[in-house]
Amino acid sequence: MPTRGGSIRLFCVRGIEVFLHWSWFLIAIYEVQVWSAIFRSPIWAALLYVGLFVLVTMHEFGHALACRQVGGEANRIVLWPLGGIAYVNPPPRAGAMLWSIAAGPLINVLMAPILAFVLHIAGAAGWASTNPDAYLVLVWLWRINLVLLIFNLLPIYPLDGGQILRSILWFPFGQTKSLFIATAIGLVGGAALLLWAVLMRSWWIGLMALFLLSRAGVGWKQARYLQAEEAAMARTAVPEPELPGKKVVL
Ligand SMILES: [Zn+2]
Repeated sequence: MPTRGGSIRLFCVRGIEVFLHWSWFLIAIYEVQVWSAIFRSPIWAALLYVGLFVLVTMHEFGHALACRQVGGEANRIVLWPLGGIAYVNPPPRAGAMLWSIAAGPLINVLMAPILAFVLHIAGAAGWASTNPDAYLVLVWLWRINLVLLIFNLLPIYPLDGGQILRSILWFPFGQTKSLFIATAIGLVGGAALLLWAVLMRSWWIGLMALFLLSRAGVGWKQARYLQAEEAAMARTAVPEPELPGKKVVL
């Protein structure tokens, strides 16, 4: 998990600080070199990589602002090679949680027609032949936005899809059981993703799968903690169970 330590503070909007973890630069250099193959100059690959992280940052702001809207706490976003992490603490209610999670992918839903429109304008202006590198950046940004949306909606906890599933299950099953179900699906999904990464020989998907598995494990432990709290409450009637640590969304 990337933290503020070892990160550069980029900017602050409405009290939400955005940090860039040092490891981002290592992978950025590698990825820009790989992506340079499709451009005439590495500058365009660098521009595309930065563009990808602008989309990631907007997605995280969706989470953070929605969390605040429902009365939660959100003041930090950290960008790292696997994307972005918004440190949020929504009120422990199913609806508040659902909105805080769903608002991230909704940003990508909003960006899809906007990027398609920009691409259409560029195409109509003849950029495909007069300015092919800039046109290619737009094409890839449009594609990457869709990939981000689809990947994040996979029901693998703690991906947004898994957390949305958890929030929906919260309504009929309650806070604890919904977390058990979602994290169990997350552990199975994370293992399947890891297997796929091995078959595809993709170190990037492998790293992502390992990260998801570790976070799903943390979620499972939180569910067990909640279960123990509920049992203690039933015995002693001590109010207000608390989750250990802050919640994070991707
Ligand atoms: Zn997200």
